[in-house]
Amino acid sequence: MPKISIIGGGPGGYAAAFEAAAAGAEVTLFESRRLGGACLNVGCIPTKTILRSAHVVRDLARAGEFAVLGAPGAEAVRVDLDALRSRKEAVVDELVSQLEATARRLKAQVVSSQARLVSPTTVAADGTAYEADAVIIATGSEPVILPALAEPFVWTSDDALALTELPRELIIVGGGVIGVEFACAYAAFGSTVHIVELAPSLLPGFDARVVRMLTAALREQGVQLHLGTSVEAARQADGGRVVAALSDGSELAADVLFSAVGRVPRTAGFGFEELGLEYDRRALKVDEYFRTNIGGVYAVGDAIGKMMLAHTAEAEGRAAARNALAALAGEAPAATINYRAIPACVYTLPEIAAVGLHSAAAKEAGYTPVSGMLKYAGNGKALAEGESEGYVELIADRQTGELLGCQIVGAHAVELIAVAAGALTAQMTVADFLRTVYAHPTVSELLHGAAELLAAKLEVAAR
Ligand code: FAD
Ligand code: FAD
Repeated sequence: MPKISIIGGGPGGYAAAFEAAAAGAEVTLFESRRLGGACLNVGCIPTKTILRSAHVVRDLARAGEFAVLGAPGAEAVRVDLDALRSRKEAVVDELVSQLEATARRLKAQVVSSQARLVSPTTVAADGTAYEADAVIIATGSEPVILPALAEPFVWTSDDALALTELPRELIIVGGGVIGVEFACAYAAFGSTVHIVELAPSLLPGFDARVVRMLTAALREQGVQLHLGTSVEAARQADGGRVVAALSDGSELAADVLFSAVGRVPRTAGFGFEELGLEYDRRALKVDEYFRTNIGGVYAVGDAIGKMMLAHTAEAEGRAAARNALAALAGEAPAATINYRAIPACVYTLPEIAAVGLHSAAAKEAGYTPVSGMLKYAGNGKALAEGESEGYVELIADRQTGELLGCQIVGAHAVELIAVAAGALTAQMTVADFLRTVYAHPTVSELLHGAAELLAAKLEVAAR
């Protein structure tokens, strides 16, 4: 029976462990904190639990629009932080215990200790040396700490999720994915929120129209944006206030300063450098099969810094486990990942979801992109739900009709994107995509409509 050791029990690590164990390997999974990693404990799941309350606040404020009487007015709605924290903890605890049960069912041994790689086949933990035939590293990431913000009073996302206080006024440094999600939540809970973003626009790297729509929505929610501006220094003032010195020479004071300026792979201090593992800056360097430069040692997830998302880590973990087992059976590795078909979602109000290339990126990649776009305002279900803001855009190559990407802004965007991700995975053309019949009335019908508009723009041979 092949023996596989896995360092890190987040989505990358537990997916690798369960894949290998289900295939009959003897698996040891090392986790220094709790199974679930950043995703379950301080990332995806707690943020979405909190954002659910933001949605409820928004719906209560709109109750009159739906002819529902008796809801307290927007001013009277308050969030009970203690109760929200308990709910968040209950959701996280339930999911962690499900992971623990799966590990038991699959007979994957979980060692609750920090681990160190001391040879390509030896992991040291808890004073014991564990031998294996292959090792998969999935140590995850940690927040970037800017020198100017390396102060104990500056929050990271971990502090923002602890829900110990609801600041009256909050400055978020960084208008990336994490910054804008928290801005929506805290603004809904009644905080005055500022976002200070170094780049000229929010969500650098996203499609320009998506960013414009989110920017307008955040402003409507009362979020104050300081774009093209960075925080140069931070200090504590009298009365517990925090003062941020901005690059434009002005100062901004608030109750809390929250740094969300990105995450970096957590790859130092576990013996990797000493063994001679190759790095690309802080990320562990791997090939398309997740093999590092040392035979039998694989790496996945945020630690390889490719697309730092939970579902990417899971997919990489499963692929690495399959490749490790194949190698041990004397076979060639075969499991790779098509990153272009992996969706990325931002859980703001409104939601944003994207997969593949947006128009500008498609042009840069040498395609002749054409786009089909439909607004939510023309969709029956969206109107019935009072969710008429948003659009679906599909991108295809004009000559071949190959689907290249999809952007969705609006209600249910993060669920709808799965349809486009499936189409990109199957390398569908617009004609293939149009063969699916959607239920009526659903917001998903917008995908069909956008594809019909797109088909009309393709070269005749590609329709
Ligand atoms: P991690 O989840 O970081 O897990 C690594 C694990 O390894 C940790 O549990 C750590 O304790 C353990 N570990 C590290 N070193 C050792 C060692 N030497 N010995 C033993 N154990 C060790 N992604 C999404 O896809 N969707 C989202 O909505 C989303 N929201 C997010 C919100 C926030 C606030 C944050 C911070 C992140 C969010 N992410 C989201 C990103 C997502 O959490 C990560 O991409 C994902 O958790 C990466 O998985 P991983 O297994 O590579 O690493
Ligand atoms: P980021 O999204 O990196 O945002 C940090 C923001 O802070 C940036 O806008 C930056 O300009 C700003 N900033 C930096 N310094 C300062 C300063 N001094 N003052 C003010 N602002 C500052 N991860 C990858 O590694 N590769 C990818 O290709 C990738 N693609 C993604 C695509 C999507 C659609 C999504 C949702 C996520 C993607 N991610 C990718 C994952 C994302 O980078 C991680 O989830 C990360 O954890 C998000 O954390 P963040 O919001 O803190 O960082």
